[in-house]
Amino acid sequence: MRAYRLLDWQQPGFADVPVPEPGPGHVLVRVAGVGLCHSDVLFLESPGGVLPYDLPFTLGHEIAGWVDDVGAGVNDVAIGDAVAVACMSPCWECRWCRQGADNYCVNTWKGRGFGADGGLASHIAVDRREIVPLGDLDPRLAAPLTDAGATSYHAVQRVRPKLDAAAAVTRPTAVVIGVGGLGSYAVQWLKLQTQARVIAVDAREERFDIARGLGADDVIAAGEGLSRRLSEVVGGDGADAVLDFVGTDKTLNAALRNAAKMGAIALVGAGMGTAQVRYGQPAHDCDVFNPQGARIAELHEVIDFARAGKVKIEVEQFAFDDVADAYQRLQAGTLNGRAVVTP
Ligand code: NAD
Ligand code: ZN
Repeated sequence: MRAYRLLDWQQPGFADVPVPEPGPGHVLVRVAGVGLCHSDVLFLESPGGVLPYDLPFTLGHEIAGWVDDVGAGVNDVAIGDAVAVACMSPCWECRWCRQGADNYCVNTWKGRGFGADGGLASHIAVDRREIVPLGDLDPRLAAPLTDAGATSYHAVQRVRPKLDAAAAVTRPTAVVIGVGGLGSYAVQWLKLQTQARVIAVDAREERFDIARGLGADDVIAAGEGLSRRLSEVVGGDGADAVLDFVGTDKTLNAALRNAAKMGAIALVGAGMGTAQVRYGQPAHDCDVFNPQGARIAELHEVIDFARAGKVKIEVEQFAFDDVADAYQRLQAGTLNGRAVVTP
């Protein structure tokens, strides 16, 4: 089969690889759609010697498709079923997996599309435990739920206790910085699951109306003076949760300065910025955390919300031949919705 791979560092391209066979407990998925994630840009741009991966591998970690074949012992899915594929292959045995945090399995530095073969090919073989039935959802649209949807969901679950505690006495405030692939779902989870007033921040004007359409109560442009402008909209108490899906010096500083006492800051974006922490900044008893991915159990919850019709999924579809263009549009920031490629 034809696959889009990282052939060498900074050298992606098509190559022919064998169609995988589903071993015992595995299913063969015919890939319907692969969402392109901003993290892919890191893999595509990285020079050798930085990332701990052996090359080549097939790119693409947001995968959904149809069951095409099943290995021995799999009897609860049928050929043709639409399924979402979790990004990671946990070992289910390490201490993190046994704690239910399979997103932090000892093997998580490696996943489908980053170090191991991903979904940008006609087929992929996956452990049954790593697929989630999609029911009537179209897998060509649902693919981004596996990372953009699920990773933002995990981050929101971590800040929910803070927002709920504040909601007992006042209307809490949440800030989402970067309303792109991940952030556009974060806005929705916050509206679906909390009482928070949601303030969205983005660098691109084209995202402002989209953010409002997804439920954001206020929208602020990124750039000069962000921290100060944000504080004017957030108000004196600060934001009970700030979810930073960008992670540059500026956004991190804005997050640290605007989060409330007893609030929380999630650093999700891999912008590799830094910011200063000192006594009093962040505010007292404010938690700062750096989540990665989502538990497979959380992906099930995400799919449940989508199957119930409660989530807007915006995608821009691309043919397999146009995958390089799609990545370029992602890098240039000119997409209107998650790019989904159909191999
Ligand atoms: P994306 O390109 O779809 O969206 C980024 C959004 O941020 C866009 O709307 C863009 O206009 C906006 N933006 C860019 N620069 C900005 C700035 N300085 N201030 C405010 N807004 C700005 O990206 P994505 O796929 O949603 O990924 C977002 C980040 O999350 C990336 O850094 C990615 O690597 C990271 N990520 C982390 C995890 C994790 O597990 N921690 C998982 C997936 C992605
Ligand atoms: Zn594990």
